[in-house]
Amino acid sequence: MTEPFVALVTGAGSGIGRATTLRFVRAGARVLAVDLNEAGLTETSRLAGESEAVALLVKDVTADDAPSAAVAAALAQFGRLDWLVNNAGIGNAKAADQTSDAEWDRYVDINLRALFRFSREALPHLAPGRGAIVNLASVFGLFGHPRVAPYAATKAAVVGLTHQMAADYGPKGIRVNAVAPGVIETALTRERIDTDARFQALNIDPIPFPRLGRPEDVANAIYFLCSEEAAYISGHVLAIDGGWSVT
Ligand code: NAD
Repeated sequence: MTEPFVALVTGAGSGIGRATTLRFVRAGARVLAVDLNEAGLTETSRLAGESEAVALLVKDVTADDAPSAAVAAALAQFGRLDWLVNNAGIGNAKAADQTSDAEWDRYVDINLRALFRFSREALPHLAPGRGAIVNLASVFGLFGHPRVAPYAATKAAVVGLTHQMAADYGPKGIRVNAVAPGVIETALTRERIDTDARFQALNIDPIPFPRLGRPEDVANAIYFLCSEEAAYISGHVLAIDGGWSVT
């Protein structure tokens, strides 16, 4: 019998990371769920029925020892590592002239540098032929949009790094893909959806499909890209945006 797949999911205490954890568990996989939000992680575990398939690690992904601690925890808990989902991220950025050095650095540290460091730590452990990384990009990394400068810059860099890692690790039997969500209803977008009329007009009206995205829409795509159903897909950036990016 094939051993269950083991995943490391960052930002698993909310939104897309939580939905991905639950999707993986439903598929029979094991998950090391990482987040700095302990209460959020506990809720993810509760929603997974407090299953032994989910282990929790409360950690800021930007901490120096976060990648090594997370990979070590996955190996100690489940004995192997197959999938890495680099999901932890922050949003709600501003235009370039409104962005301080400290804000810029914060976006780069969380959305890009941590993703690179987790990938570097996990790659030597990912099993050839089973190993897969899925990075969280964004449609804002694919096309221009007002008032998201540091966010969009990090997400465009995530697309570039996804292409490069696919080229470098494909020969080793490891696939690297990204998803580029549009507007998904999570804690990250909730406040702006509720309160920012300009955000509503700019972000929602042009979406052809007549609803916002749900975390489960993204989680299903992440699961597909990790699964053996996607065995020959690597270096791909899959938009999950109700058709927004092509209209
Ligand atoms: P969310 O705010 O619901 O969840 C993000 C999770 O990441 C939270 O639990 C948070 O605690 C965690 N996190 C943030 N910084 C962290 C850190 N330094 N260390 C550890 N954990 C940290 O957001 P979401 O909408 O689920 O976003 C998940 C990913 O999807 C992000 O990378 C985001 O950029 C991307 N994304 C979201 C949307 C959207 O519309 N929601 C669109 C495009 C891309």
